[in-house]
Amino acid sequence: MSKPRVLIVEDEPDIAELMRFHCEREGYEARTAASGKIALEAVKKEPPALVLLDLMLPDVGGVEVCRRMKQWAETKDVPVVMVTAKGEESDVVAGLEIGADDYVVKPFSPRVLMARVRAVMRRNSEESAPAPTNRIERLDGRLVIDADRHVVTVCGDVIDLTVTEFGILAHLAQRPGFVRTRDQIIAAVHGRNVVLSSRTIDVHVTALRKKLADLAGCVETVRGVGYRFAESLVPAE
Ligand code: CA
Repeated sequence: MSKPRVLIVEDEPDIAELMRFHCEREGYEARTAASGKIALEAVKKEPPALVLLDLMLPDVGGVEVCRRMKQWAETKDVPVVMVTAKGEESDVVAGLEIGADDYVVKPFSPRVLMARVRAVMRRNSEESAPAPTNRIERLDGRLVIDADRHVVTVCGDVIDLTVTEFGILAHLAQRPGFVRTRDQIIAAVHGRNVVLSSRTIDVHVTALRKKLADLAGCVETVRGVGYRFAESLVPAE
């Protein structure tokens, strides 16, 4: 089996080399593109298994690269991990909303970067396999979401959630560790006769956490971006 190929889109050579080193050490084949234009040509010619995408690029910016990739049939399913500088939260939100999978903030630790790459690769291969999605078990079975019956249990006890709280929790729990923006959450919960604004999401999340009691920490706030379901939970003291 050939190695999965990662395309590293980064205009700073030192950072690109650092990423290449760590990708290759993890067993991926790594290629680099120093501009958005080069990256777009490369992904179209030969779609990689994953793209690490710097947002500040000399010609075509990262968000635009992602937007075009998601429009093309050949590249729309290629996962994208954005690599951003601090203070680019609005770009991160824009990127997530057009289909980027995740992001890492510079300066990144190689360990964190590769953990995100592995998680996105893993998630992508799981998604291509047919999986029952109506029952979600998380946190070693302490949280169970049964979408058919619209029932949530925390450590075996049924908790009483509103339609909106249920929708938010079910949406976030589908992809632990991945941030969803408020607009993405609204879109996911929409259509269940629920009117939801950006601001009211925070209110619903607060109520949801209260009901989750010991598991409240599983709904994490990502400042400036949105919310995320925790990959693991440190037990409360
Ligand atoms: Ca850059």
